[in-house]
Amino acid sequence: MNLFDLAGGGSDAAPGAVCSRKACRAAAQWQLLWNNPKIHTPERRKIWLACAEHRAWLEDYLRTRGLWKETLALGEEAAVPLDRSGRVG
Ligand SMILES: [Zn+2]
Repeated sequence: MNLFDLAGGGSDAAPGAVCSRKACRAAAQWQLLWNNPKIHTPERRKIWLACAEHRAWLEDYLRTRGLWKETLALGEEAAVPLDRSGRVG
């Protein structure tokens, strides 16, 4: 295995911007903004990163729990301060 492949070269995403889906190492293309009203103030946004393949999965995960707020393309500026969350799934 070529170690340089692990660095995800060729993408213009920030280094380390990988999908939040557990065990997925794909470069993130989307940022999912969410908020849990039980533990977060309303203006707070947690963020998950998603690759193209897992965007729907992660979005559905949040939607079914009533947490989903917004999905933005990676690099798109969010109107609120973001609080990057950990891995999921
Ligand atoms: Zn993924």
